[in-house]
Amino acid sequence: MEINYNDMYSNYLMCKNCNRKTQGPEDYKNTKTGKVTKTCAKCRSCVLRSLAKRPQTKPPTIKQQIDIMKRALRTFDEETLKSLYDIQPKLKFILSD
Ligand SMILES: [Zn+2]
Repeated sequence: MEINYNDMYSNYLMCKNCNRKTQGPEDYKNTKTGKVTKTCAKCRSCVLRSLAKRPQTKPPTIKQQIDIMKRALRTFDEETLKSLYDIQPKLKFILSD
C-alpha cells in the first residue's frame, strides 16, 4: 500500500522537516506556548536543549554594572562614602560626574 504523505503530515505522524515518524500533535507542541509547531520535537531538540541551558535574563553589560553600582553607592551617607574614599581614593572620580 502506498503511503499518503500528505495524510501523515496533516495527522502529525511524520515530520515535514526530517521525515521521521512521530506520535501525533504532542510531538510538535512548543514547550512555551503549547502551540503545535511545524517541526517535531527531535528536530527542535538542539534548540530546546540550548534554551534550557541559557540563563533567563542576560547579565548586565559592564557599563550597566557600573551604573548600578554608582546608583547604589550614591545612596550611602557622607560618612560611609568618606571611609570608602580612604580605602579606594579613585572612587571619588567614579562618583564625581
Ligand atoms: Zn523532525
